[in-house]
Amino acid sequence: MIRLQNIEKVYRTDTVETLAIDNITLDIAKGEFLSIMGPSGCGKSTLLNIIGLLDEPSKGSIRIDDQDTSRFSDQQMAKFRNQKLGFIFQSYHLINDLQVLDNVELPLLYRTSSAKERRQLATEALEKVGLSNRLKHFPNQLSGGQRQRVAIARAIVGRPQIILADEPTGNLDSAMGNEIMDILINLNKNDGTTIIMVTHDENMAHKTHRLVRLFDGSQVQ
Ligand code: ADP
Ligand code: ADP
Repeated sequence: MIRLQNIEKVYRTDTVETLAIDNITLDIAKGEFLSIMGPSGCGKSTLLNIIGLLDEPSKGSIRIDDQDTSRFSDQQMAKFRNQKLGFIFQSYHLINDLQVLDNVELPLLYRTSSAKERRQLATEALEKVGLSNRLKHFPNQLSGGQRQRVAIARAIVGRPQIILADEPTGNLDSAMGNEIMDILINLNKNDGTTIIMVTHDENMAHKTHRLVRLFDGSQVQ
């Protein structure tokens, strides 16, 4: 489903050049739950951003669903991201002055769905993560685990085929982290969503199907 071929990423500024990803080739199957681990600075977020089409590789190709993403225009890229991909981050990235329901509806604003339909889909997504009783709350009225559940609802509201999660349990204690992992595992099992997750936590990584380890931009396992 996702095919990375000879991906290289170099960050260049006037004074420094950093080889962040060094020739990575990786296939990710439909329905797979993959985790990516490795020490700080080894290129995990860079790789995830490249898979999520948030960042372009310096060399190599990415095919998703047999489409060569390098041929996309900016507009096609944005549409593809909005329809096929869902993102979850360590620090939730919610909008603090929007209520939970409005946060979850955001990705649907780019679609042709009606206001009523958006509300319906957002409510369903929040039910799925067990937050039906927090629709009108603001993010700062929720615990970290609840905020991450809102972020998951926002990631899944458009029914993406692929979820990209960058340290989704990184700011949570182990009980809340396990709850978030259970939600992701269920999305993967029940809906067949492909999930790619960066984590520092071996326990979380061991709950997934496959672990890729990076070191200095290269895959070592
Ligand atoms: P077990 O706990 O019995 O060893 P696994 O954790 O290996 O089972 O697999 C659990 C489920 O996930 C199975 O349905 C299996 O087919 C599926 N699965 C395991 N590995 C992968 C993978 N790399 N890609 C897609 N599905 C997988
Ligand atoms: P990780 O997620 O594993 O901590 P990153 O992917 O964030 O690693 O970073 C990989 C390497 O690329 C690091 O050495 C980092 O300093 C460098 N890097 C990341 N982003 C940038 C950037 N925007 N500009 C320059 N260098 C960067």
